[in-house]
Amino acid sequence: MNNTIIQQVDNLITEQLKNWPLAKNNFTGLQKVVTREIDFNDKFKIKIQFNPERIRSSAAKVDAKSIQERKCFLCPAHLPEEQKGVEFLDKYLILVNPFPIFKRHLTIPLKEHTDQRIEPHFGEMMQLAKALPGFAVFYNGPLCGASAPDHFHFQAGNTGFMPIEQEIVSLKNTILKQTVDNQMLAIDEYLRKTIVINGDDSKIIEQWFKEVLELIKDYIPSDPEPMLNILTQWTGTYWQVFIFPRKKHRPDQFFKEGNEQILLSPASVDFGGVLITPREEDFNRLDEELIRDIFHQVTMDDGGWEELKKKLSSLE
Ligand SMILES: [Zn+2]
Repeated sequence: MNNTIIQQVDNLITEQLKNWPLAKNNFTGLQKVVTREIDFNDKFKIKIQFNPERIRSSAAKVDAKSIQERKCFLCPAHLPEEQKGVEFLDKYLILVNPFPIFKRHLTIPLKEHTDQRIEPHFGEMMQLAKALPGFAVFYNGPLCGASAPDHFHFQAGNTGFMPIEQEIVSLKNTILKQTVDNQMLAIDEYLRKTIVINGDDSKIIEQWFKEVLELIKDYIPSDPEPMLNILTQWTGTYWQVFIFPRKKHRPDQFFKEGNEQILLSPASVDFGGVLITPREEDFNRLDEELIRDIFHQVTMDDGGWEELKKKLSSLE
């Protein structure tokens, strides 16, 4: 019998960290990465990780011209010779991410070079999460942190790292929808507006996700798709999906100069509660006030959020 996907992935990680010098060096380097935490009224915390290797991603040029001019680093034909992968559903390749944030960090591109759009692939995201217990699978929209907006991909990182996983149970929430085993919640007082879907019925979850995607278009920038980051994990008995609606990719501070600049480009992991700063000065400077300001700039507006919640709870 073939090994399960997770066994194959465990073997892949072991093999790549042994035989691929780039991955080996960067995962070893991760042990030296410095992290600190900021508490928000004892209700939740934000971790900050100083990770110089992530400069490629944080400062990535994702405009159409830059993308067109570079060789796509997720196409199977362009992968480094040492890079190996595990096939998933005959159309994805599960790869080790050589520029890690997590101790176990994967990039999961489609084999086909096709645009970053979640709608046709959300069901596969759930299947992937179920096949990878111990990992949170995440999606960065084409304007929300994906450094390859032209090649569809997920990422995954080990659970137990992003504060949201623990915090979610104690945060104040509003129930938007529920069936016996499935629930959609809105989390308000968490710096970032968050929709949570918990459940074991993949059809219901997919249906609810579609409703969110459709309704939210009225309230956030939605060309070519609503600006979102998504985290999904399989807890062993049910799926947990976090949806973060956005109005902006990078905060104003990103574009400032000199002392006022902060090179922070929030994506799924940041919304999960770990801010990734590739520069030491930014790592040292971030404080409660700046973090509040940055999330306020990139999460969706209060007015739209209240209307969205009303619409979601009245649909049945
Ligand atoms: Zn490609």
